[in-house]
Amino acid sequence: MKSKKLKYNCLKCPGYCCSYDRIEVTKKDIGRLANHFGQSEAEVKKKHLKKYKHDDNGVLVKEIILKHKKDHIYTSVCKFLNRKSRSCTIYTARPSVCREYPDSSKCGYYEFLKFERKQQEDKEFVPTL
Ligand code: SF4
Ligand code: SF4
Repeated sequence: MKSKKLKYNCLKCPGYCCSYDRIEVTKKDIGRLANHFGQSEAEVKKKHLKKYKHDDNGVLVKEIILKHKKDHIYTSVCKFLNRKSRSCTIYTARPSVCREYPDSSKCGYYEFLKFERKQQEDKEFVPTL
């Protein structure tokens, strides 16, 4: 099957998708992280993950998500984003949701980033939402 040509370049983006508050991890992701760090799943959960609960139209949804850290661009980002290089420090072990995103040949934020950089005539400009 012919692969889709991607119309975004993560190397030119400061990692907006890594600033999402809720980056959910699955059981399989936890196993992959445990292998990557040579830690038990319990250690991975304690050190890198946190529980998140929310009400979705009367249904209590429980998730396990990646911990965050402070960031000078987006206020906070996933703890695994290198704040200087803006790249993922656990790329081969990143959760499935990170592998799949944006699940399209286009990334909405990248379109916005390109538009704003053109408007500002500044290739480095980073707009925040
Ligand atoms: S927001 Fe889009 S362009 Fe930026 S790092 Fe994420 S997928 Fe790549
Ligand atoms: S694990 Fe990597 S790709 Fe996923 S949100 Fe964190 S830094 Fe971004």
